[in-house]
Amino acid sequence: MGGSAWVTLATNDSYSLGALVLAHSLKQTGTVHQLAVLVTPGVTSAMREKLSSVFNLVQEVNILDSRDEANLRLLKRPELGITFTKLHCWRLTQFDKCVFLDADTLVLKNSDELFEREELSAAPDVGWPDCFNSGVFVYRPSLETYDKLIQFALEKGSFDGGDQGLLNLFFSDWAHKDISKHLPFIYNLCSTACYSYLPAFKQFGANAKIIHFIGAQKPWLQYFNTETKKVQPSGESSHLQEVLQLWWNIFCSLIHPHLSPAMQGQSQH
Ligand code: UDP
Ligand code: MN
Repeated sequence: MGGSAWVTLATNDSYSLGALVLAHSLKQTGTVHQLAVLVTPGVTSAMREKLSSVFNLVQEVNILDSRDEANLRLLKRPELGITFTKLHCWRLTQFDKCVFLDADTLVLKNSDELFEREELSAAPDVGWPDCFNSGVFVYRPSLETYDKLIQFALEKGSFDGGDQGLLNLFFSDWAHKDISKHLPFIYNLCSTACYSYLPAFKQFGANAKIIHFIGAQKPWLQYFNTETKKVQPSGESSHLQEVLQLWWNIFCSLIHPHLSPAMQGQSQH
């Protein structure tokens, strides 16, 4: 294959809906890069088929793979399961450079320039800005780095039980060493910023290139009125009406019509 790819991850059919919308958003912004998704056995074959209609690569990864000794040892640390799964992205060595995107992100504007950045480039986390948020990061696939990350996970673990705590410990000089590895916040605009710093969101929100729906309120869990075709976010998500609508517009026009009735049930709330 060669070249460069956007990479995401889905361990079940719900997150796969996010991955599908994300892939279409990338295509709509005219990216020249390839699209890859890591899936685990929890993703149904019907959903994999949908994924392969828009992703160039649907790569199965398995956190329970008994042939992998490091995996088995990790199993004794169940909170690291999902961490391990994301780490698989370093194994996509058919690509030279990749940008990982969480399945709950949406690309609003072409962001291909991210591929000019070096590993590990990421945007600050809203909760602790000396940590990077691991929902969007630029990296270079490498089996050597993958092995080091697994070894590190076994020895040091993750301070938050997730991939972000692990990656921040591993790439520990991110906060102070090289400002070019600090992505502007507009490449990972965390949805909580919309209410935690509303004036800044009003001032700069229009510049957002990638929005990240962090937390439990995922776009596919919002109430959607099938008559009016409008999403009706509740409470804290109400500031996100506009961007959530963009997510649902893609979902309604490009994804929902092609899902089987059983799969359509995944997204009805
Ligand atoms: N993920 C997944 N299945 C899960 C949980 C997470 O596939 O059950 C993947 C998915 O790509 C997701 C990413 O891991 O976007 C990180 O999780 P999440 O986005 O829920 O964390 P947050 O951004 O809310 O901290
Ligand atoms: Mn996320």
